[in-house]
Amino acid sequence: MSEESEKSAHFIDQIIADDLSSGKLADGLQTRFPPEPNGYLHLGHAKSICLNFGLAEKYKGRCNLRFDDTNPDKESVEYIEAIKRDIRWLGFLPNRECFASDYFEQLYSWALELIDAGKAYVCDLNAEAMRAYRGTLTEPGKPSPCRDRSPEENRALFEKMRAGEFADGEKILRAKIDMAHPNLNMRDPALYRIRRAHHHHTGDAWCIYPTYDFTHGQSDSLEHVTHSLCTLEFEDHRPLYNWFIEQLGIFPSRQIEFARLNLTYTVMSKRRLLELVEAGHVNGWDDPRMPTISGIRRRGYTPRAVRDFCETIGVTKFNSTTDIALLEHAVRNDLNRVAQRRMAVFEPLKVVLTNYPEDQEATVEAINNPEDPQAGVRAIPFTKELFIERSDFMEDAPKKFFRLAPGREVRLRYAYVIRCDEVIKDAAGEIVELRCHCDMDTLGAPPEGRKVKGVIHWVPADKSKSAEVRLFDRLFTVERPGRDKAVPFTEELNPESLKIVQAMVEPSLLQAEAGRSFQFERVGYFIADTRDSEPGAPVFNRTVPLRDSWGKQKG
Ligand code: ATP
Ligand code: MG
Repeated sequence: MSEESEKSAHFIDQIIADDLSSGKLADGLQTRFPPEPNGYLHLGHAKSICLNFGLAEKYKGRCNLRFDDTNPDKESVEYIEAIKRDIRWLGFLPNRECFASDYFEQLYSWALELIDAGKAYVCDLNAEAMRAYRGTLTEPGKPSPCRDRSPEENRALFEKMRAGEFADGEKILRAKIDMAHPNLNMRDPALYRIRRAHHHHTGDAWCIYPTYDFTHGQSDSLEHVTHSLCTLEFEDHRPLYNWFIEQLGIFPSRQIEFARLNLTYTVMSKRRLLELVEAGHVNGWDDPRMPTISGIRRRGYTPRAVRDFCETIGVTKFNSTTDIALLEHAVRNDLNRVAQRRMAVFEPLKVVLTNYPEDQEATVEAINNPEDPQAGVRAIPFTKELFIERSDFMEDAPKKFFRLAPGREVRLRYAYVIRCDEVIKDAAGEIVELRCHCDMDTLGAPPEGRKVKGVIHWVPADKSKSAEVRLFDRLFTVERPGRDKAVPFTEELNPESLKIVQAMVEPSLLQAEAGRSFQFERVGYFIADTRDSEPGAPVFNRTVPLRDSWGKQKG
């Protein structure tokens, strides 16, 4: 049994399993992922993708990718391409790629059908008047003066709307349902609006565009979507979703709502993410600090980690906010399995091995990944002069400090045990060099007659090079940015979310291929940036530190 099927099924999984076993789904399960191409996908979308594609995989059904493209003003081909790329990266393959705009002609004839049946009318009220007529949760709405137009007149007017005989906003088509309905979405909702805008997919073919409500359910129905999964905000739209299906007598797709994903220390709405991009708070949609799929990909998160994370959080009916540490945990888990180990020193302190031969061209052998024997070994030059991390030495070290200190010993990872004999300082009293003794009998062997507890990382001084490393931190300083409506969410940005530093990296890292992930031993996981790395001069992004230091900082 796979890990997945051992986990108890969530409520949607249960509904589908029941529908399948009761023979309700003659053609099997059909789901869809329906993004509007008005921005890049974020981790919230990843939850929906994993759910829709994941269920289709599990039950040998099909999942379509459908672009819900009814707002030409905000949509673009750039977003469409990015969305396709992101879904592929997550490891899912759509059964079909569809565009709601491909159904415009069909939707138009359905609108005529409703008009002819006296269930839709053309209305002259402007947006403001429509709102005023709509009533409130406690008061019923008022009928529009246009509500009793005859089907013939409505048909003629609607045809003229399509033919471009009215100005933008001059008329709309509305469903004729119930102006006193307790659910405001049922009070004669808008079906079509006039908008002269170039559409990325249909060009200038249309000057009227269907609304989300009139498009979504019918598109599901056309694709024979059996289970239409959406987030809880759409619960109030479900009666309308069903109303269209009943009136038109079309394939009965079923809408089921689940809780959206919210993550601490970030925002998850395309509108806000777009604002961050446009105002220059981040460097584009794929800035590694962004919760976009393209951002986390560049940051070094893996598809497997995202899918494991989505599996862990599950699917419920209750909105909540998930600790981002849970996602980082999944990232560490996966990278621990797959990332090769390397050494890099961030704050170098020179070590001279006084007894080590001057011109010796020696190497030591390092294991690339203890979790994966297939990853093999590599040779690291070992020389008389090395760099270690400044923080791995202490002049007045407490007893429990198991790293380097005057007169004490430590093991250099993959190499020898050394002892610090002398501390060299400059005129200002700053430590500039440690002179150490190298115990030549300790390569791959314990020192005789004594215990050496500490192991520290190092790089050979002359054969290493400095590389740019980008250290990312939480994008916001508060757990739930934007929650306090009195404060613009951009004021809650973390001014220290990006720190650029240099590190001395072992020679093999200079050849790091862009997009490859590594564990820098004792420090964290890093990826060679796909945008800014040059051959022989990689730039590294810190994906995640080895340990979660955030909790400690806060506590
Ligand atoms: P945003 O508010 O970020 O623009 P959206 O819901 O408008 O999101 P769509 O492109 O319409 O974005 O969403 C495509 C699908 O992804 C929808 O089915 C939607 O319910 C789902 N989705 C969007 N955000 C989340 C989220 N945070 N968690 C889970 N599913 C989400
Ligand atoms: Mg939307």
